[in-house]
Amino acid sequence: MKRKTNKVTLDALASLCKRRGFIFQSSEIYEGINGFWDYGPMGCELKRNIRESWWKSTVLLREDVVGLDSSIIMHPKVWEASGHTSSFADPMVDCRVCKRRFRADQLCEEQGQKLARDGNGFRLPDAVRCPHCGENGRLTDPRAFNLMFKTFVGPVEEDATLSYLRPETAQGIFVQFQNVLSVSRRKVPFGIAQIGKAFRNEINPRNYTFRSREFEQMELEFFIKPGADEEWHTYWVAERMKWYRKIGLPEESLTRYVYGKDELAHYASACVDIMYDFPFGVQELEGIAARGNFDLSRHQEFSGKSMEYFDPDTREHFIPNVVEPSAGVDRIALAILCEAYREEWVPAGDTVSEILEAEPGKQPPAGFELRTVLGFAPCVAPIKVAVFPLLKNKPELVAKARAIFETLRERWPCFYDQGGAIGRRYRRQDEIGTPFGVTVDFQTIEDGTVTLRDRDTMKQQRLPAAGLAAAIEQAMK
Ligand code: ATP
Repeated sequence: MKRKTNKVTLDALASLCKRRGFIFQSSEIYEGINGFWDYGPMGCELKRNIRESWWKSTVLLREDVVGLDSSIIMHPKVWEASGHTSSFADPMVDCRVCKRRFRADQLCEEQGQKLARDGNGFRLPDAVRCPHCGENGRLTDPRAFNLMFKTFVGPVEEDATLSYLRPETAQGIFVQFQNVLSVSRRKVPFGIAQIGKAFRNEINPRNYTFRSREFEQMELEFFIKPGADEEWHTYWVAERMKWYRKIGLPEESLTRYVYGKDELAHYASACVDIMYDFPFGVQELEGIAARGNFDLSRHQEFSGKSMEYFDPDTREHFIPNVVEPSAGVDRIALAILCEAYREEWVPAGDTVSEILEAEPGKQPPAGFELRTVLGFAPCVAPIKVAVFPLLKNKPELVAKARAIFETLRERWPCFYDQGGAIGRRYRRQDEIGTPFGVTVDFQTIEDGTVTLRDRDTMKQQRLPAAGLAAAIEQAMK
C-alpha cells in the first residue's frame, strides 16, 4: 500500500480514538488527571497485539531469551544502586508570575537555546521566557526534580517504609539475574525480557499519550561477554528495526538517532534511539543501549551478592555486559495510530472505482464521500474480521452469519454487526481498522458463497463460505 502524504493532526486522531474506543482520558468524569490515560475496548486489543508480537519475536521464537514478571515495588536499595534515587531527575523551573512549572531543557530547546551546566546544576539562558504568560526574567533557577513516585509500604508512614513505583522495568531483571540464570540453565549470551508498567512523575506530561506518568515498557536485557558489545548492539538495532516493519512501521517512517561519544552515559559504549515522525515532531519510541556491566556491578556492590557468571568454555568468572533494547508500548501504539490514520474520498455507496487522498479542508468531488480509515497491519488490528448479515430481519441470513462468526472467532478476534445500512457498518469497521469484512447475502442461501471485503481497496470477492478461513489466512500474510 502506498504511504499517505498527509500527516494526521493530533486533534483528529484523538477524536477518532475517543469515538471508537481506543483511548479515553483517565478519570474523565472527574475532569481527568494529567498524564494518565485509559485504553478502551479497541485500544486494549491494540496494545495487547503489540505486546504479544514483541513477546513472540523476543522470547518465544528464540532460544536465548527467557521471560520475567517482576514486582512494581521493590526494595528501595534497588533504586540507590541503580542511581535513580540520586540522579533520576529533570531540571525544573517555575514561573514566578503564573506559577506554572516547566522542564528547563525542553523550554530551552523550544526557544532555540541551550541549557547551560553550572557546577552540579544548570543555568537558564537570560533570553528564555515563560511560554504561558510570556514574562521574561521571571523564571526560577532550574532545580533537580526526581521523577520517581514515592509510596509507603506497610501500615505506618515512616521513612523506613518509603519506597518507589518503578520508573523502569529493567532493574527487576538485573536483581533477579542470578535466579533466572540458575533456573533457565542458559549460557551467556542470553537475555531476560519483561513487559510491565512503569511510572514517572513527568513535569510536563504532554503530546497526548506520548509522555505519560504511567506507561508500559517492553525491555530486554541481553547479557554478553565483555568485548562483544558492538557486535550485539548492531545485531539488536537491526532486529528491532525488522520488528517495527512487521507491525506496520516501515524503515522509511523511522529514524535512527546514533548517540555521539560525548552524549553517552559514562558506562555506555553505544546507544541508538529509534524515532518516529509524530505530528508534534520526530521523537523516541525505543532506546537501544550497550550499558557495559554498570547495573550488575552496582547491584553486586550494594547487595554484597555476587553477580558474576562462570563461563564453562573459557573457565573464567566475569560480570556480563549488557545490551538493552527498551521500548514503550504506549508510544508504539500512538505511532501505529498516527501511521495508520488516513482520510480518503471514496465513491459514495461503497461501489469502488477510484480512491482519492482527501485534501485537508476541502469538500470531496461530486459523487464522492469522506472515509476515515485506520490502515493497521493485520497483526496489530484489534479486530481481524467483521461478519455481517445483509439484513437483520431475515432469519436465514442472520443464522448463517452467526454460524460463520462463531467459526471464525475461534481463530481471530471477530466482530458481529447486524445493525444499520451495510455501508455504514463497513465504515465503522474501517474506522477501527478491521482488515476484512464478510457479508452474508441472499446468494449465500442459494449457493453457499459469501463476499469478503478488503478494507484498503474496498473490493469484494465472492467465495464459498467453507474457504473463508483459508482466504483470510492467506491475505493476512
Ligand atoms: P524521554 O527522553 O522521552 O523522556 P527516556 O529516554 O527517558 O525518554 P527511557 O528511560 O530510555 O526513556 O525509556 C525507554 C522507553 O520507555 C522510551 O523509549 C519510551 O518508549 C518509554 N517511555 C519513557 N518515558 C515515557 C513516558 N513518560 N511516557 C511514555 N513512554 C515512556
